[in-house]
Amino acid sequence: MPAAAGPEIERLIQLLARLPGLGPRSARRAALFLIKKREMLMTPLAAALQTALEKIEVCRICGNIDSQNPCTVCTDIKRDRGVIVVVADVADLWALERAGAINARYHVLGGTLSPLDGVGPQDLTIDALVNRVHAEKPHELILALNATVDGQTTAHYITDLIQDTGVKVTRLAHGVPVGGELDYLDEGTLSAAIRQRTAF
Ligand code: ZN
Repeated sequence: MPAAAGPEIERLIQLLARLPGLGPRSARRAALFLIKKREMLMTPLAAALQTALEKIEVCRICGNIDSQNPCTVCTDIKRDRGVIVVVADVADLWALERAGAINARYHVLGGTLSPLDGVGPQDLTIDALVNRVHAEKPHELILALNATVDGQTTAHYITDLIQDTGVKVTRLAHGVPVGGELDYLDEGTLSAAIRQRTAF
């Protein structure tokens, strides 16, 4: 199929198509939309991308991504400094922040242990986490990791490493999602929900 647009536009479409959730069709639609909204959207987007490129860094304390280092969360004096929430990815940190779930600080591991994919402890920020626990002496470490085999393997590995520090280690509850119907849940989730039932 011959390209309907010049090489510059084709390049824009190809780059947009690499974004998660965008296939070639929607990338083409997004490119067209950007071009039509040149002043309103494309110019500010280009400026925002340029700023992000220049200013955004990985926080040296927690691994969050921000335009300041240490990040906004780490420098927020209203945060409970006795609690560190351990997450696999920055996206998980942002999800917890969006939910306003907890007013604590975080530690981003950069993934989870996965022997099958060749991800070992040295590929994650586990050493830095252990050092942080020794230095900051939090009273609680919340392992907010995925309820997958890799997530739980990582949780056990971290728990073993910091056992001697005496810090209380907790993990997220597994169970019925808010608004969820029992009939639709898988057996694993239902069993976990029964096991982890709480007083009413
Ligand atoms: Zn930070």
